[in-house]
Amino acid sequence: MSSASTPAQSPHRVIVVGAGGAGCLAALALAQAGVAVDLVDRGGDHPSLTAICGGLVPGADTSWQQSLGIADSIEQFVEDVMAKNKGQADAALVRTIGAACTEAIEFTGGRLGIDLHLYTAIVHPGLSVPRLHATPGESGHELQESLRARAAKHPVIRRHINTLMTHLLADGSGRVIGASGSASDGAPVRLEGHAVVIATGGFGANRDMLRQWIPSMAEAEHVGSLLSTGELIAGAMGLGAATAHMTGFQGHCHVNLGGRTHLGGSLPRLGAIMVNLNGRRFGAEDGGYSEFALEVLKQPQGIAIEIFDEVMHRQVESLGVFREAAEAGEVQRADSVAELAAHFGLDPQALADEITRYNRCVEAGVDSDWGRSILPRKLEAPFYGSRVTGALAHTQGGLKIDAHARVLAQDGQPIPGLFAIGGAAACFSGNGAEGYLSGNGLAHAFGTAWLAAEHLATQAKL
Ligand SMILES: Cc1cc2nc3c(=O)[nH]c(=O)nc-3n(C[C@H](O)[C@H](O)[C@H](O)COP(=O)(O)OP(=O)(O)OC[C@H]3O[C@@H](n4cnc5c(N)ncnc54)[C@H](O)[C@@H]3O)c2cc1C
Repeated sequence: MSSASTPAQSPHRVIVVGAGGAGCLAALALAQAGVAVDLVDRGGDHPSLTAICGGLVPGADTSWQQSLGIADSIEQFVEDVMAKNKGQADAALVRTIGAACTEAIEFTGGRLGIDLHLYTAIVHPGLSVPRLHATPGESGHELQESLRARAAKHPVIRRHINTLMTHLLADGSGRVIGASGSASDGAPVRLEGHAVVIATGGFGANRDMLRQWIPSMAEAEHVGSLLSTGELIAGAMGLGAATAHMTGFQGHCHVNLGGRTHLGGSLPRLGAIMVNLNGRRFGAEDGGYSEFALEVLKQPQGIAIEIFDEVMHRQVESLGVFREAAEAGEVQRADSVAELAAHFGLDPQALADEITRYNRCVEAGVDSDWGRSILPRKLEAPFYGSRVTGALAHTQGGLKIDAHARVLAQDGQPIPGLFAIGGAAACFSGNGAEGYLSGNGLAHAFGTAWLAAEHLATQAKL
């Protein structure tokens, strides 16, 4: 996307509702191209999904990968995503969004000057190569704040914080011309522009929508954002917008009780196991952490203890989300199995037997109990444990969009003036929990933000 020489002079005005990862990135890309932006966010005390998340952004064939000699391609990205969702998404759209995400990452680390590096400690399940990019602290909070700080400073971005938008405005022809809502003091807000970009995240905090679309998770712990209430998804549906994969979601099996912290998804690949309150393993922990959330929820009290050792602890202790869990007192160190069992109220003999049994599987190179394929090392004292549950991370269904992130009506035609990006738009994880591949969330947020901005910037020049 090229930048205009006099950015503040564009007569075009775009309303971006939601200043999470997707909204900030779209606003910044539009602003750099000279398009005036109203960036609206309900704000409040709660963090966005982007702030909560691990902050690991997938990008294929990026300059960071190239500088480390890691061969990757958009085709490989598409293959990985489509293998996980078992062919449920539109491969051509995944390719377009994946390529756009790479451009968005280059823009973020280049023009925006946000310090990024390739996260190489772990290759998450289903990714062919190291593909996740992160800020220095490897945390979503840092990524979100870096983007917001740049949006706050940009002269052509007019920010409206603490403003909840509840309605989309359309003219007599059906063109979307704005959005309305209210500021936190109750004052009505009405903004009009050439287009509205819905960047409000999914509907993980809307129990009624969950009961309708994802009943299995409606009463589960929710580790996503309380701000994901889905008003404008419903608003767009009221204007005739089509949706896709509304039953899709990312589950999370590493969430501490109460949902405030989680351990990230890396530990099982390093050799961590999970046992239930009977001290027994109950599945192959190295599979997808999204679908394994449902397995955890089937255990007594819906609880598991994630167990790892000193070597594994050293490999994750720098991760932002893990640090937060440790600082919140959710990670317990124990010098022996007996101490570990006592801390979590487990039968010490049952736990000792299970760890011995697992270590024999590692020696044999075969998990004869549950068929996990990654058996990197035996568990050895000192141990670490953390009480976790299966939770809803965020929804994956949403408004159906095309390759410019335009919202499609039921007849497949774009609704004029309406765009959806990030969690508000249908992602490429298919239905249910199985199709979510690590990084789908931010790949989709960054990719769709880039596509919407590119299209709107081109339109602004016409
Ligand atoms: C625990 C967890 C870990 C994750 N880890 C990763 C990871 O490492 N890598 C990855 O790729 N993905 C990850 N994800 C997914 C990722 O967080 C999301 O896909 C992504 O952040 C979505 O970005 P967004 O901009 O669409 O939504 P958000 O970041 O939630 O932004 C939406 C914004 O819209 C605002 N808003 C909402 N409704 C309104 C309204 N009506 N009016 C005004 N403003 C409104 C909110 O205040 C919010 O600021 C994770 C998710 C969770 C829950």
